[in-house]
Amino acid sequence: MQVMHALRNIVILSGAGISAESGLRTFRAEDGLWEDHPVEQVATPEGFARDPALVQRFYDERRADVLAARPNPAHEALGRLDREWTGELLMVTQNIDDLHERGGARRVLHMHGEALSAWCTACDTRHRWDGRLGDGPACPDCGEAMLRPDIVWFGEMPYRMDEIFDALARADLFVSIGTSGAVYPAAGFVQQAAAHGARTLELNLERSLGSRLFDETRLGPAGELVPRWVDELLSGSSGPAPSMADPPSE
Ligand SMILES: [Zn+2]
Repeated sequence: MQVMHALRNIVILSGAGISAESGLRTFRAEDGLWEDHPVEQVATPEGFARDPALVQRFYDERRADVLAARPNPAHEALGRLDREWTGELLMVTQNIDDLHERGGARRVLHMHGEALSAWCTACDTRHRWDGRLGDGPACPDCGEAMLRPDIVWFGEMPYRMDEIFDALARADLFVSIGTSGAVYPAAGFVQQAAAHGARTLELNLERSLGSRLFDETRLGPAGELVPRWVDELLSGSSGPAPSMADPPSE
């Protein structure tokens, strides 16, 4: 018999849906476009090698969009969760904006990089970057003009995967918010977490490719579903509904 233990470790995966409610358009798997550009053009190392000026301009615009966007109630609820949750918590985001941080979250991991970061490929340092890269600025450390967007492109390895898989292996609850379930490796996180015994909850605008893999799916805007779920969790009444096999916990 499985021993029930207290819900303590939470891993959250957030994706495009949560940023979309703040007005940011991100990569769409269905048609392979990002702000009307084919992803091969603006989100691959080959695209950057072919036309660096166009790619820098594209991310200069994304950076400006991020700076102009504001966190929505979903980001703010997750910020509250981060402040009040005393157990382990890791928010893995596929989003390159800083809206989780501006919503008050601290335990955030950007697996696909950050719009407000520049990566120097000459000296391998990263720098907080609010301005443009299209003008070919010098690296603050080494002085070379070799800064590129600190974004994980298709064909590149997402950041900090070991840390993510360690957290998934320890998770009691895995929650996916606003992701299509179409882009690996993130699409596989639910199975990883479930294989290690976590309960799984999906909060999404519509059913996704991965919905059948979750114990529970709730449909609606993140700005409504996330604050409600955080309230439930922090008031202690919460988490996904127990599955048939589990005894009541109280
Ligand atoms: Zn450098």
